[in-house]
Amino acid sequence: MQQHTLSQTVEINGVGLHSGLVSKLVFYPSEPGTGIVFIRSDLPSKPEFKALYSQVVDTRNCTCLGDADKNIVSTIEHLMSVLYILGIDNARIEVSNPELPILDGSGEHLYKTLKKVPLVAQNAPRKFLKVLKNVSYTDNNGNTVSLSPADEGLKVNFTIEFPSPIVGHQEFHGLITEDIYASEIAPCRTFCEKSQIDYLQSIGLIKGGSLENALVLDGDKVLNPDGMKNPHECVNHKVLDAIGDMYTSGFFIIGELTAMKTGHFHNNELLKKLFSDNSNYKLV
Ligand SMILES: [Zn+2]
Repeated sequence: MQQHTLSQTVEINGVGLHSGLVSKLVFYPSEPGTGIVFIRSDLPSKPEFKALYSQVVDTRNCTCLGDADKNIVSTIEHLMSVLYILGIDNARIEVSNPELPILDGSGEHLYKTLKKVPLVAQNAPRKFLKVLKNVSYTDNNGNTVSLSPADEGLKVNFTIEFPSPIVGHQEFHGLITEDIYASEIAPCRTFCEKSQIDYLQSIGLIKGGSLENALVLDGDKVLNPDGMKNPHECVNHKVLDAIGDMYTSGFFIIGELTAMKTGHFHNNELLKKLFSDNSNYKLV
């Protein structure tokens, strides 16, 4: 299996969730071994950020990369997820804003747009990260995420439990194939309670937030006029996020991810733990 990059430049525009400002993404084909690199094209120094777990500086509402000068690129997880499933090893991506466009809160537009661009096989072998030992991270509330060995590909088990009667208990179990991703995962939007939105807007955040870019719940009601995309939209979105976060390993993973009520913070701690001991994995 060779490394792949895009065959041509691609542009995607949308509004940033927090700033409400237009954020332009420009994707460039890149040399083998580049990995995924973001460039802040709006800043005079054009700082670059490797999309790696070790460069993550904030995981509170999204996965956010940062540098020593406190420049950031935030909300990379949906795009990272799409790059993973499309098998894009190498890309340089300019972003004209501290945050990536939120689009409809899912990975669908990113997936459909990038899927149309032919990929180029490059003259370098792809390395996969094969998990050899069970590695887990558990927070103070007992919520756990783990990676364990698997025979092929990335398998995901995800369980969520929310007090909302609409979300409740949901589970996802399966090998992540592109077919399943395209039909079941990419269209699933991020979700939140209306009370959270009201609060975040009151403190000047989510200026770009609306029913256009999230599934918004209010008690036992879905406020979006078209309702949910599927009954498992919430857990499937968590799977979308987790795939994106796993790609900040810098590798395609052969292993089984099992997550119980966890998020970006846990995913990042898990990768730090995985890489803290090189007997946990091998590159194949
Ligand atoms: Zn998300």
